[in-house]
Amino acid sequence: MAHAPTVLIMGPPGAGKGTQAGHLVATYGLLHVATGDLLREAVAAGTLLGLEAKSFIDKGTLVPDDLIIGMIREVAAELPEGSGLLLDGFPRTRAQAIALDKMLGVLDRDVDVVLDIRVPHEVLIKRLSGRWICRTCQTPYNVDSRPPKVAGVCDLDGGELYQRSDDTAEAVGTRLEVYETQTAPVSGYYRDHGSLVTIDGDQPSDEVRAALDAAMQPVTAG
Ligand code: ADP
Repeated sequence: MAHAPTVLIMGPPGAGKGTQAGHLVATYGLLHVATGDLLREAVAAGTLLGLEAKSFIDKGTLVPDDLIIGMIREVAAELPEGSGLLLDGFPRTRAQAIALDKMLGVLDRDVDVVLDIRVPHEVLIKRLSGRWICRTCQTPYNVDSRPPKVAGVCDLDGGELYQRSDDTAEAVGTRLEVYETQTAPVSGYYRDHGSLVTIDGDQPSDEVRAALDAAMQPVTAG
């Protein structure tokens, strides 16, 4: 691998970021930093950040930029040197994207590629209702399209499956709207910087994976 890459994965809730992030991390040896997972861990641990973030998460709105940027700053400070990075769920606003550029600049890094997964609205609604996630490895299942072999149990590690508190119909609607208004414009920011690759997420998972691998080629070659 040429250097330790910095990769961003973007896409609306239900786009399949979690599933594909698992593949990217395993294949390219990247450190996975998923802001949603970090926030849910903070909520479960009852930290100050968790207490501040919980009401935003449950409503489906964005946690304020300063909290998120502070959380990522801590991750950046502890980043092992030479470690490839997969940022998942960050940046979600233009202000976060600008803050990220500054943080990476200090580390002498740059965003190498932004993998922007696109999925039509009505497909997302179907995917998110009926979603169950493994508490241990975060693998998502769906009661209709990808049921686990045993109800409530992860096929991969036997972990307990749970439904996220923000997968209610109301919060799902808000999350999709927030994505369209606040996060989709971040794609434009990266398109202007020449690092955006758009991926069709409305196809079978292994085809999405192949498209992601093709987009990773220039980053990992030579
Ligand atoms: P999804 O993409 O399925 O909506 P995530 O697990 O990435 O879910 O995020 C869950 C929630 O965590 C978001 O709805 C938001 O409240 C909060 N969150 C995660 N990342 C960010 C971020 N970068 N900025 C603001 N809020 C965030």
